[in-house]
Amino acid sequence: MRIFSTFVFHRRQQIFNLRQFQTTTILRNPISIAPIQIPMDATEQSLRQSLSEKSSSVEAQGNAVRALKASRAAKPDIDAAIEQLNKLKLEKSTVEKELQSIISSSGNGSLNREAFRKAVVNTLERRLFYIPSFKIYSGVAGLFDYGPPGCAIKSNVLSFWRQHFILEENMLEVDCPCVTPEVVLKASGHVDKFTDLMVKDEKTGTCYRADHLLKDYCTEKLEKDLTISAEKAAELKDVLAVMEDFSPEQLGAKIREYGITAPDTKNPLSDPYPFNLMFQTSIGPSGLIPGYMRPETAQGIFVNFKDLYYYNGKKLPFAAAQIGQAFRNEISPRQGLLRVREFTLAEIEHFVDPENKSHPKFSDVAKLEFLMFPREEQMSGQSAKKLCLGEAVAKGTVNNETLGYFIGRVYLFLTRLGIDKERLRFRQHLANEMAHYAADCWDAEIESSYGWIECVGIADRSAYDLRAHSDKSGTPLVAEEKFAEPKEVEKLVITPVKKELGLAFKGNQKNVVESLEAMNEEEAMEMKATLESKGEVEFYVCTLKKSVNIKKNMVSISKEKKKEHQRVFTPSVIEPSFGIGRIIYCLYEHCFSTRPSKAGDEQLNLFRFPPLVAPIKCTVFPLVQNQQFEEAAKVISKELASVGISHKIDITGTSIGKRYARTDELGVPFAITVDSDTSVTIRERDSKDQVRVTLKEAASVVSSVSEGKMTWQDVWATFPHHSSAAADE
Ligand code: AMP
Repeated sequence: MRIFSTFVFHRRQQIFNLRQFQTTTILRNPISIAPIQIPMDATEQSLRQSLSEKSSSVEAQGNAVRALKASRAAKPDIDAAIEQLNKLKLEKSTVEKELQSIISSSGNGSLNREAFRKAVVNTLERRLFYIPSFKIYSGVAGLFDYGPPGCAIKSNVLSFWRQHFILEENMLEVDCPCVTPEVVLKASGHVDKFTDLMVKDEKTGTCYRADHLLKDYCTEKLEKDLTISAEKAAELKDVLAVMEDFSPEQLGAKIREYGITAPDTKNPLSDPYPFNLMFQTSIGPSGLIPGYMRPETAQGIFVNFKDLYYYNGKKLPFAAAQIGQAFRNEISPRQGLLRVREFTLAEIEHFVDPENKSHPKFSDVAKLEFLMFPREEQMSGQSAKKLCLGEAVAKGTVNNETLGYFIGRVYLFLTRLGIDKERLRFRQHLANEMAHYAADCWDAEIESSYGWIECVGIADRSAYDLRAHSDKSGTPLVAEEKFAEPKEVEKLVITPVKKELGLAFKGNQKNVVESLEAMNEEEAMEMKATLESKGEVEFYVCTLKKSVNIKKNMVSISKEKKKEHQRVFTPSVIEPSFGIGRIIYCLYEHCFSTRPSKAGDEQLNLFRFPPLVAPIKCTVFPLVQNQQFEEAAKVISKELASVGISHKIDITGTSIGKRYARTDELGVPFAITVDSDTSVTIRERDSKDQVRVTLKEAASVVSSVSEGKMTWQDVWATFPHHSSAAADE
C-alpha cells in the first residue's frame, strides 16, 4: 500500500491478509478498499497549469512567426513577433525552472538524493563495508557480503539488540534452522500466498516486478516530464497511492494503458501473475520431503510455543526472540542493501493474554514523543506529527499498551543506534493493509535517499499464527488461566445445521459453516435477534466474497451456563520484526557527511557513528616512525585489547592528517596519537578536539567514553585540552 510517499517499502501484504479464520459478516462492513486521493501541492498544480498554458502560447506564437515569414510580411512586423516569441519562451522557461525546483524540494526529486547516495555507496564499497557477493564471477543481484567494518557494525547492532530486548526484557532466545519443511510454511500460509506479481519480457523472458514498473513509470513522469497536465499528475499520484491494492488484472490494465514496456529492451510485457518468493528445496537424499528456505524467522518460534510456555513456568506474558537469516527470492532486487535475497531478521514474538494487553513497564516509555503517522492523518493528506506515546495509547490511536510499549522500545533502540529522530516515523497501517485478525500494526520507517523505508514492522497479529499451527499440527498451542474458585460462565454456542446448509449451499457449505462459527458474540447475538424477528438474514462470507441468505433452520445460536476451573485460550502475539540490513543501511546514510580538508582543496568523508556501533572504537598512531613511540603504541594497544575495545594501530609514515582522514572515513570515534613516551593525545572525530592524558590513562579513558560511561564533554572537562582543528591535518 503506497500512501503518500511513492518510496515506501512495504510488508508483504498478501501473507498478512490470509483469511483462514473468517469473521466478516453482513453485520460488520467488509473491509473496503477506498482509493486514497493524494492532494497535489497547490503550487505544483498551478505551475503545471501555467506551464501548459505557456507551452500553448509559445506554440501559437511560433506558428504566427512562421505565417508572417511565409506571407513575406514587413520586417518590423516579423521582428516584433519574434520578440514576443522570445519573451514567451523566457516566461515558459522560468515556470519550468520553478516547477523543477518545487518537484525536487518536495521530495519527489531524485537528483540530490542520487548524488548523496552515490557518495555514500562509493565510500561503503571502497572501504569494504559491503561487497557484491561473488563479484569475481560478475555477482548475483540481491546478494551482498559484509566486509570487515560492515561485519563489526552488524555485530555491534546485534549485540545492542540482544542487550536492549533479550536481556532487558528477559526474552527467551531460540535459534531454529533456515531449512523448513513445507508443512510448516503451508500452515502459515506462505506456500499459497507469499507472492509478488511478476511480468515477463515477452521476447527475452526477463522478469520484472509488475508494481515496480508501474511505480517507476509514474514517478519518472511526475519528476521528469514537466509537460504533463495538472490532472494527469493528480491521476499518476493517485495510481501510486492505490496500486498495492490492484489485482493482477488491474495492474495489467494500467501497464497496457500507459504503454509500459520492458525497461531494457522495450519489448512487450506479459500479463502480471503471482510468483512465490520462497526458495524451494528438498530435505534428504530421496527428495521426498519438500522444504523451503525460511522467509522469516517467526515460524520457528510459533512451532516451539508449547515448550517455551512450559519453560516459562506456564506464565504469560512472555516473549521469545530469534536472530537469523531469512531468504526471499525477490523478483528484481534493487536499491542495494534494502531489498536483498538473503538478509538478517531479528524477530520478537511477545505472547499475551488477549483479554489483558496492558504492559507493566509502559510508564517507562509513556512520556516519549516522536513522529507518528496515524491512519487518519494519512487518509486526510496530513503529514506525520510528533505525538506523546502515552496519549496515543490513552486515546486509542495505538490499540493497546503492549503494542505501544514495543513502539517506544523500538524508537529508543533505533535512536540510540544513531538513527536521526527527525527522519524516523511510526506509520500505522491503513485498514486495507491489515488482515481482519490483526488488531493494529505500525511500521518504523526511516527516511533515506530512497524515501521512507519500512525497517521494523510492529504488529498485533492476535491469535492467528498459533491457531494456524494448532489446526495443522493437531498440537494445541494454548495457554491456561487457572481460577482460584470455579467460575460459572456463560458460553456462546453456535451450531451450524450442516444438513440444511449443505442442501442450500452445496460446495460452499464449508465456507459458510466456518464463517458462522467464527462470529464474535456481538455478531452472533445480532444474527440470532434478526433470525427470530425476520426468519432470515443476509450474511457476508468473506471467503466467498458474497452475501448468502441464512434461514432460521440453518443455525442455532444460544448461550449456555457452565462451571469452569480454568480458562484455556490461544494467546495473542505482538511481533516486532527488524530488518537488520535495512537499519544498517539507513544508519550509514544518517551518519555520513563530508567536510573540507584543512587546505580546503577536497571534501573528506566521515561517518559520525556513535561509539556504540562504530566498527572500530579507536586508532592508535605513533606521531612519527620511531621505536620509542611504537613501543608506547603497542602498550596502549595491549591495554585496549584487555578491556575489549576494538582498535587498530597505524604505524605507516603517512602524515597524521591523512591518517585521521582514513579513520574518519571508517567512522572511528577516537584516535590516540603517541607523541611522547609519557603522555598522548586523544582526538574526538566529530569536533576534532583533543585532550592530553598520561600514557597509563589512555586506554581506560577511551574505554569509558566508548562504552558510554563518560561523555566526551566529561573527558574535555577533566583533562588538559585544546580545540585542535589546527593540529589536525
Ligand atoms: P516483513 O515480514 O515483510 O514485514 O519483513 C520484516 C522486515 O524485514 C521488514 O520490516 C524489513 O525491514 C525486512 N525486509 C523484508 N524484505 C526484505 C528484503 N528483501 N531485503 C531486506 N530486508 C527485508
